[in-house]
This record gives sequence, structure tokens and C-alpha cells, in this order.
Amino acid sequence: MFSSFILGLTGLFYVVWIASSSFAEQRIGSENGRRNLQSERCIGPAPADWKYEANESYFGEKNYIEYIPGQLPIIISAPHGGTLAPDEIPPQEGALRDGGSQDNARQVVEELFRLTGERPHLIVNHLTRNRLNANRTKTNELSYGNPAADRAWDEYHAFIEDAKAWVTSSCGRGHYFDFHTNGHADKWVELGIALDRSDLQLADDAFNTKALVSKSTLRHLAQNSALSLAEIVRGPRSLGGLLAAEGIKVVPSPAFPDPGKGGYFNGGYNVRRHGSTLGGVIDGTQIESHGVYINNGAEARRDYSIKLARSIKHFLEIHYGFRLTVERSGKGEGMIEGQDQ
Ligand SMILES: [Zn+2]
Repeated sequence: MFSSFILGLTGLFYVVWIASSSFAEQRIGSENGRRNLQSERCIGPAPADWKYEANESYFGEKNYIEYIPGQLPIIISAPHGGTLAPDEIPPQEGALRDGGSQDNARQVVEELFRLTGERPHLIVNHLTRNRLNANRTKTNELSYGNPAADRAWDEYHAFIEDAKAWVTSSCGRGHYFDFHTNGHADKWVELGIALDRSDLQLADDAFNTKALVSKSTLRHLAQNSALSLAEIVRGPRSLGGLLAAEGIKVVPSPAFPDPGKGGYFNGGYNVRRHGSTLGGVIDGTQIESHGVYINNGAEARRDYSIKLARSIKHFLEIHYGFRLTVERSGKGEGMIEGQDQ
């Protein structure tokens, strides 16, 4: 909109890791060896009917929807960053697009590849937002009823479901991020997890309830974590906390635990459907990056995308026990130790 996890030794390890990352990375690489290194990535089988090759582009009818399968426990979608405006789908009310959001998503994918040697799954809606608002129910009267738009909506969500099936089968857990751009006066990044402003305004004791865990798109993570919901949502190791440590203004986070009276998108259809609120092992976060980071020149967007990718990687490592840092074997950039055999 415009606007069981590994909780034993690995969990403890990553609590230590955040404070001493480079030392810890060397230790885990040398002491745990190949087998454990791989077990902290996605090594389970693909779904039985898996029909894709990683890093290849697959398109729906007329190239309206694109899916690039990845090999990380991360799924990224860009529903509002398209440019196609075909005559067969008349424009509806609403903004043309979330400026820069598709480019932001692709830059984060490539930075994660540079950091980890593998890519997340990426799903892109190439239609303009006012031709297919791919963050709404299909029956939304503003966007649908048009056969081509309905077909594209079906393809968009089918690709996300395919990506979720792969992450579920191969990784056992993971996280879906829906990329948007906001223009609110607060100039902050808004992380939406289906909790209302009034929920976030509760003090931690009142906030850490089973009811809010179940309401959130982080349900599976929060139900299986040693950390409280407040720590996961707005503590130093939350996604907001990690982004804030990179110098990004973001809500919820330690400095801005709730949006107060500021602008705040708390998560639309996509994260509510594809996060873990309704079940499953894949959590969801809507990332409403602000235009000051996204549409303030190419250098600013690139700098922000690098920080966001780094924060997403750390979030998956801290909270899900994955080991995603690429091991340089000396045999070439991107070579992962243990895969070269
Ligand atoms: Zn949007």
C-alpha cells in the first residue's frame, strides 16, 4: 500500500553471536565443520512436484507476474512496484505504484546473494498498482472482476504458495517479506505484522500475551522462541532493532516501540495470508520502506537496500538458527565451503 526452531545450543549461540560476530563466525566454521554448517541451511528435499530451477525467471500469462525461485528460507514479494499498463485491464482508483519498491526488492535479493551465496525467492507483480493491487483480496471491488486481472492475481499468489512449499519442505521454517514504499511525514520504515497501533501501545507485560502472538503474522516464530513477543517485535534483536542499529528510522523498534499518532501501515492482505497467523511455519512482515531511503537518489536506495539485506540476514540467523554467512573457500567469490565437492 502506498500510502522448532533450534532453541538449544544454537539459540544460545546466536545470542552471543550478535555481540561478537566476526569471532563467532570463525568459531562455528572451524569447530562445527561441514555437517553442521549445512544443517543450518535449507537441506531438506524440495516438494515432490517441484518444477522450477533456482535463479531462473518464470512468468505467468503475458509476463504480468514473475517468480524467481531461490534457495534461502526467505521469500520476498513486490506487489506494488510494476510498470505494465495493458489495455485489457482498465485502470482503477489509487496510486500508480510504490515508487522504487521493485528495485529495492531486487537490490535486497542481490545483496543477500552477495552475503550468503544464495538468493531468496522473489515474486514480482509487473502490473501497475492501479491495474492489479496485489495486496488485496480478489473480490476487492476496486481491482477485480476483470478476467486478466483475476488471472494475474491467481498467478501472483500461486507463485508465493509455491515458494512457501519449497521453504517449508527444504528449510522447515522461514520468513516472508512484502516490500512497499510509504510517504508518511514521519519518514520512517514501517514494519507491519497485523498488530494494531493500540496493541503496540501496550507495555511489554500486557503486550506479551498468547492472544497477540496468535493475532500476529509472527505467530509460529513467537510460539517457538525463547524470546518474548516484545523482544521479537521491538527489542534490540527485532528486525526494527537491527535496522535501527544500521541508522535507519523504523517503527516498531527500541526507540519507537509503537507508532504513536504517526503514520503506520500495520500489514495488508499479503502478510495476513502468507504469514503464520493462519498456520504454517513461515512468518510474515510487511516492510513499508520510506521514500527518503528509496526515492532519494540511486546511492541512497543502494545504501538502504544493503542495510536492509544485512538486517534480514541477521534476523533469520538470530531468530531461526540459520547459518547464512557465505564461507569463502579461496576458490572463488560466492563459493560455499561444504558445497564444493
Ligand atoms: Zn504498497
